[in-house]
Amino acid sequence: MVKAYLLLGSNIGNRYENLHTARVEISRLCGQIITSSGIYETEPWGEPGQPWFYNQVIEIATALPAEELLNRLQQIETAAGRTRERKWGPRILDIDILYYDGKIFRTERLTIPPAELHLRRFALTPLAEIAPLLVPGSDGQTTGQLLERCPDRLVVRRIV
Ligand code: ADP
Ligand code: MG
Repeated sequence: MVKAYLLLGSNIGNRYENLHTARVEISRLCGQIITSSGIYETEPWGEPGQPWFYNQVIEIATALPAEELLNRLQQIETAAGRTRERKWGPRILDIDILYYDGKIFRTERLTIPPAELHLRRFALTPLAEIAPLLVPGSDGQTTGQLLERCPDRLVVRRIV
């Protein structure tokens, strides 16, 4: 079993329900959920003028290789009604792999940790809530330290 952290996001439809569906399907298809952060309402990053997101980070224990985990997460996004749309645009459900077994991935399909994780308060806040001492990248910084140094000033507020 491998430890992975996933970032869930939604800014279309019933955002709370969409995150719930994601957790149910991840448990069914990917592995056991070990810890869940609170749910945060967050100001859109990258493309302003779209609805605010709900974001949550979960820790899972999975037996799947990273590529197969991605396949199933994409299947869950599609089943939730997500269509291909522009980068950073509105989406019913987005699931990103923030961390997989402490490994660094720089392949065609997978960048882990995401290149701009240190610039994204909406991802670092829920991640640091449940894993403040985790070191996601190769620079030795913990998520707590990354959050302290994060220059992003977009609003991230816990709602649940
Ligand atoms: P984004 O989440 O960046 O807004 P999408 O969800 O539309 O973009 O995903 C676009 C592509 O990102 C996917 O086809 C996938 O191969 C790639 N990708 C790269 N790294 C990751 C990762 N760590 N987690 C999820 N998808 C990733
Ligand atoms: Mg994504």
